Amino acid sequence: MKPIQMVDLKQQYFKIKNEIDAAVLGVIDSSIFIGGPQVNTFAQNLSQYLGAKHVIPCANGTDALQIAMMALGLEPGDEVITPSFTYVATTEVIALLRLKPVFVEVDTKTFCVEPKAIRKAITSKTKAIVPVHLYGHSAKMEEIMVIAKEHNLFVIEDNAQAIGGDYYFKNGTVKKTGIIGDIGCTSFFPSKNLGCYGDGGAMCTNDDEIAEKLKMIANHGQSKRYYHDMVGCNSRLDALQAAILNIKLPLLDSYIDARRKAADFYDNAFAGNEKITIPYRADYCKHVFHQYTIILEDVDRQGLVDFLAQKSIPSMLYYPVPAHRQKMFASFGGSNFALEKTDWLTERVISLPIHTELDEEQQNFITGKVLEFVNK
Ligand SMILES: *Cc1c(COP(=O)(O)O)cnc(C)c1O
Repeated sequence: MKPIQMVDLKQQYFKIKNEIDAAVLGVIDSSIFIGGPQVNTFAQNLSQYLGAKHVIPCANGTDALQIAMMALGLEPGDEVITPSFTYVATTEVIALLRLKPVFVEVDTKTFCVEPKAIRKAITSKTKAIVPVHLYGHSAKMEEIMVIAKEHNLFVIEDNAQAIGGDYYFKNGTVKKTGIIGDIGCTSFFPSKNLGCYGDGGAMCTNDDEIAEKLKMIANHGQSKRYYHDMVGCNSRLDALQAAILNIKLPLLDSYIDARRKAADFYDNAFAGNEKITIPYRADYCKHVFHQYTIILEDVDRQGLVDFLAQKSIPSMLYYPVPAHRQKMFASFGGSNFALEKTDWLTERVISLPIHTELDEEQQNFITGKVLEFVNK
């Protein structure tokens, strides 16, 4: 059996080695390392794939979120509604810009922010909502957009874990996640569903004015060369990463299929087990399984992690501490938030290996060991 990894980037690379190597060497040969045709082509390719009018590449997913908040003109003290049950980047940029994170509950089934909780958290200072499509499952965007419209709020989708996912609206419209709100932000961190070989990220929007601002802010607030109209930052996707992404983007749908197949295998193995809740798949979206995360009840979770590790099976706790309990947010009143469901999930979730190269032999071994421990 091949060794089991949380994400097997090496095996994935071997399947496309010739194309990747040629593309990387091509960039080096051209010596156009920053900007240039590979980056422009990738922005076009991704906007076509997503059905977004504009895609603005940037240096990483965290920058994408930060630049999005800057472009929407959010001011210090403005309140931004966000789940606490997410990766730190989502909430960190809110604090970095001196905005006020307002942490709300997630649905214990989908792990995503609850529209009802958003409604309750709205005050006169609320300016934006940041739904996170956690683990590859979309938040309830149709309801969230209704709330945003009613209260005149911006919506920034954190699509870092769900690129390629579909959202099914009640009237039959289908859209990719990330293009439903005002701005969608994504990451090409190597382990993400569409990963490059370093850092990378992108923002997308259908709004021309917002697109211009995003572009300017990512490039030192520059309107034309050496004329800087606003304070920005330096956030670029480099040409090597863009060249790699140009090869991997056409494979994204097949990567998603492979992840969904692996998820089906796990689902079948765990179905009906009283101590394991398999990932919920709401009928309003297509889950792209960035993570395969189960909820354990009456199981010694750390014991399971250790038991699996002994058998060379990696597993992860995403995330062991929710944002509102991080020291980082102490001065933002993090501990004032009472988020029972978030705490409940934090103590019970565990993510198993899922990636494009996982085979049945490996999955049989993993599920066998998980069940051996859980049922003992
Ligand atoms: C990965 C990730 C980010 C940040 O992306 P980076 O490219 O690592 O900066 C933001 N939000 C979520 C939910 C993520 O998973």
